[in-house]
Amino acid sequence: MAHSITRKDFLVKAGSALAVSSFGFPSIILPRKNEKLGVALVGLGNYSTNLLAPGLLQTKHCELRGIVTGSPEKIPVWQERYGIKDSNVYNYGNMYQLANNDDIDVVYIVLPNHMHAEYSIIGAEAGKHVWCEKPMAMNAEECREMIRVTKSNRVQLTIGYRMQHEPNTQTIIKYGQEQTYGEITEIRSGGAFNGNFGEGVWRTVANMGGGAMYDMGVYPLNAARYSSGLEPVAVRATQWTDRTDMFPDVDEHTDFDLEFPGGLIALCKTSFGKSMNYLEVDCTDGWYRLEPFLSYDGVQGETSSGTQLPEDPNHQQARQMDNDALAIKNNTPPIVPGEEGLADMVVVDAIFESAANGGDWIQL
Ligand code: NAD
Repeated sequence: MAHSITRKDFLVKAGSALAVSSFGFPSIILPRKNEKLGVALVGLGNYSTNLLAPGLLQTKHCELRGIVTGSPEKIPVWQERYGIKDSNVYNYGNMYQLANNDDIDVVYIVLPNHMHAEYSIIGAEAGKHVWCEKPMAMNAEECREMIRVTKSNRVQLTIGYRMQHEPNTQTIIKYGQEQTYGEITEIRSGGAFNGNFGEGVWRTVANMGGGAMYDMGVYPLNAARYSSGLEPVAVRATQWTDRTDMFPDVDEHTDFDLEFPGGLIALCKTSFGKSMNYLEVDCTDGWYRLEPFLSYDGVQGETSSGTQLPEDPNHQQARQMDNDALAIKNNTPPIVPGEEGLADMVVVDAIFESAANGGDWIQL
C-alpha cells in the first residue's frame, strides 16, 4: 500500500539525514533559520491559482517549489510561471514519493473538501508539514485522524483559516480577551455568497463536501469562537434549499445558533443564495463590528467609541503562509493548529444532526 511504502521511505530518508556531531552523538539536520521553506501546492484550482501562488511570490519565509496535480496540461504553465523543477512535479498517485524530496518542506492541501484528510495524511507520512484548507475535513473523526498522523510523524498541521492572521480580526479577538467593551452579550455573523454552479461541481455534491455550511458556514462559526474566546456548549440549526436543481443533496442555506457558557448566544448564517459578510459583537459597555469580515482584502470595521479599523493593505495569504512558515522554522505552535479545525468540525457535525432533527438544540 502506498502509505506504508511512504512511511518506510521516509524513515530511510530520515536516517540518512542524521549527522554525527563533534561529540559523536547523532543530531537531526534542521533547515537553517534564514532559508525559505519549500511549499508544494496540492490541487491547482481557483484558490491555488489566484491567491496562494501569487501570495507565495511575496512571502519571506517560504516559497513555491512544487506542485501536485491531476491535470497534466497545467504542468508546463505552472513550471514556466513559477520556475518549478521537473523533479518537484507530482500527481495524486505518486505524491507519497515526496518523502524522497528535500526541496519540499510543506504540502498545502487545496483540494475539494472530501480529499483533505486523505492527502494531508499522505503528506504527513512523507514527512512533510501539512497546511490544509478549510473546512479541515468532512467530520470530526477525520480531523482526529489527521491530528494523530501528523503528531506521530512529528510534523505541524495548520488550517487555512486566514482571518485569524488578519490585523483587524486580531484586534477584535483582543477586545474579547481584554473585555475592552465589557462582557460580550451577543454575536451575529453571516458569511455567504450568491453562487451559480454547474452540474456536478464539487461544491454542490454532498459526498465531496459541498454545501454552504462546509464552504462558507465555517467562517461565522470560527468567528463566533475566536471573537468570544469560548467553546460553544450547544447548537441548533436549520438547513434548506431553494434551487433544488443546482443543490440536489446539499444545503443552499444554513442558519445556526450557538450557545456558549454563561448563556451567550451567537446567531450565525450562511448561504450560497445571497451575499453576507458581517461580524457584529455587542457588549455590556458598547459594540464593535467588521464588515466585510472575511474578504480577501478590504476587511474593516468600527467600534461604538468611534475607533475605525481601517483596511490592511498587505496580502492576506502571504501573511498567513509566512506566519505558518515561521512557526515551523521556530518550532512554535501555529496560530491555527489542527485542533482549531477539529473544534469547528465537532460543531459542524452537530449542525447537520440538529438540522436533520428539526432544528433541536444539540448539546456539545
Ligand atoms: P476548485 O474547484 O477551484 O479547485 C479544486 C482543485 O482540485 C482543482 O484543481 C481540481 O482539478 C482538483 N481536483 C482533484 N481531484 C478532484 C475531484 N475528484 N473533483 C474535483 N476537483 C478535483 O476549488 P477551490 O476554490 O480552489 O477550493 C479548494 C479548497 O480550498 C477547498 O477546500 C476550499 O474550501 C478552499 N478554499 C479556501 C479559501 C480560503 O479563503 N481559505 C478560498 C477558496 C477555497
